[in-house]
Amino acid sequence: MKKLRSVGSIILILSLVFMLAACGGNKNNNASNAGKDGIITSIGEGDGKHGTIKVEVSFENNEIKDIKVLEQKENEVLAEPVFKELKDTIITSNTAEVDAISGSTVTSNGYIDAVKDAIAKAGLTLVAKQAAGKDGAEEAAEQTYDVVVIGAGGAGFSAALEAKQAGASVVLLEKMPSVGGNTLISGGEMNAANTWVQEKMGIKDSVDLFVEDTLKGGDNVGDPEMVRVLAENATAAAEWLKNDVKVNFLEDNLFQFGGHSVKRALIPEGHTGAELITKLKTKLDEMGIDLKTNTKADKLLADESGKVTGVEATGANGNKITFHANKGVVIATGGFGSNVEMRKQYNPEFGEKYMTTDAPGSTGDGIVMAQDLGAALTNMESIQTYPVCNPETGVISLVADSRFDGAILVNQSGKRFVEELERRDVISRAILAQPGGYAYQLWNQDIGDISKTAEVHKDEYDMLVKQGVLYKADTLKEAAEFFKIDPEALQETIDRVNKFAKAGKDEDFNHRAGLKDMSKGPYYIQKAVPSVHHTMGGLVINKTTQVMNEKGEPIPGLFAAGEVTGVIHGTNRLGGNAIADAITFGRIAGQEVAK
Ligand SMILES: Cc1cc2nc3c(=O)[nH]c(=O)nc-3n(C[C@H](O)[C@H](O)[C@H](O)COP(=O)(O)OP(=O)(O)OC[C@H]3O[C@@H](n4cnc5c(N)ncnc54)[C@H](O)[C@@H]3O)c2cc1C
Repeated sequence: MKKLRSVGSIILILSLVFMLAACGGNKNNNASNAGKDGIITSIGEGDGKHGTIKVEVSFENNEIKDIKVLEQKENEVLAEPVFKELKDTIITSNTAEVDAISGSTVTSNGYIDAVKDAIAKAGLTLVAKQAAGKDGAEEAAEQTYDVVVIGAGGAGFSAALEAKQAGASVVLLEKMPSVGGNTLISGGEMNAANTWVQEKMGIKDSVDLFVEDTLKGGDNVGDPEMVRVLAENATAAAEWLKNDVKVNFLEDNLFQFGGHSVKRALIPEGHTGAELITKLKTKLDEMGIDLKTNTKADKLLADESGKVTGVEATGANGNKITFHANKGVVIATGGFGSNVEMRKQYNPEFGEKYMTTDAPGSTGDGIVMAQDLGAALTNMESIQTYPVCNPETGVISLVADSRFDGAILVNQSGKRFVEELERRDVISRAILAQPGGYAYQLWNQDIGDISKTAEVHKDEYDMLVKQGVLYKADTLKEAAEFFKIDPEALQETIDRVNKFAKAGKDEDFNHRAGLKDMSKGPYYIQKAVPSVHHTMGGLVINKTTQVMNEKGEPIPGLFAAGEVTGVIHGTNRLGGNAIADAITFGRIAGQEVAK
């Protein structure tokens, strides 16, 4: 130990000499000299999800003592475990060679890179220590609540809040280090009929029309009674989010996703589910509801009568915890888009050739757990892809929402091959049928000025450019050449588009909104692939969200809500309907389980 310390001291002295020398010649060196107490500090930077993460690292005796975040623009919910747990891991192990926090990978890597940068600038060579294991002993192995909710996404938060409001003691279990699931990374847009925004915008809508659109959009496979429950209660759910949870929705704008007859999707501030989850989490904390992250539900427990009485779970250290539920359990574990094996099990078309837009926790656990108790499943083969995603990561492209304002899709030969406002499944299949299974989305500045996606989603735009999958070109020829498309063929396609735009009729694919003139540059061209986006199938629930068994009877004490259920969306979920589903049925589940 003594020897180690002296080696450390020599390294430290050498480092200080190096730093002093370097400081003389380089004003940009961010490491400051050792203070009187032997502590030196150094500033480092890394690329997070939403820009630079800047940290100040303090060292003493060649050991990391503290990491302060000086600048960052990360999502509050995803960054929380990074700035707490990852920081502790780096300090206790005295190295930045650590694993990213699952579910917060980009933020983690930016933070790790910033710490590495600070270490390099300090000129220190650190000796890694064995990180102390997390102490799981303080987490009791047996715990009792009235209600156990599994999964901290939109449905789980809503269920937990309503159950607590009804007087129950509640615990919310989340297997990932951070909360939010798909809800967090979603656009957060939520459909409801006759909302305050529709009234302000003078849009006429009705519950009947919402029901009709939803059923038709899913090829009439959804359960009409359950779709009506959704349509009748979605507005109250949106008002609850606005008034009780304090979610900010845009007051003067709505989205009209494909398949909806009118504009009815409320848009949260920032156009993402982060606004929903951040506010739901704040409300959960205010109400004093216990939240256990890093806690994975493994098995549902039932008594001899078949009533569900609790959950067996695994904590952060692999410690087993039994959560007893006096009143019942709500499954809100989301879909199975991130589980390739399960996708293949129910529909072999959706194997490895697809990446996914979904959160890593979307692995279908709730479906498997409930099935062990005889729960009925429905519509499992219905898996939705999103057509325009990042070919490197599978992540949905919001920059590519310029498609809704006139951007076209072309293949490697520079030819259009599908109507760009077709259903997600139709466009996805058409893209996969092209050589290489990819497409390019092309739009010009006039379209960009309407959609503003490059500005609204600037972080994503910059990343796509950095990855070489999006290019802004002054001329069409330059755009074509960047992706090795024949410039003449692309020019021919654009000439046709301009002709159809002028005539007001797309003779090739009958673009329903009408094509836009694209004769003027600059142009944006983006490579895209489809990715698995939503799993429509899942557990069968009734109007009070009780999980049904294969005989069509409710399983006592077991409730479910959100993407884990399979009765609403039929073969094809319409945009904006999943958030409505998760929040509406999550609330009902919370109210019912607490009875
Ligand atoms: C990129 C993207 C954009 C989208 N945009 C929209 C949109 O704008 N509008 C819309 O309506 N829909 C949208 N959707 C779909 C919508 O976000 C989801 O269907 C919805 O959020 C699902 O909510 P949920 O609460 O059921 O599940 P989730 O939000 O996925 O939450 C489930 C949670 O359960 C946790 N969990 C899973 N298994 C366990 C276990 N064993 N133990 C403990 N915890 C567990 C997961 O980690 C997760 O945190 C989008 C989806 C994606 C991926």
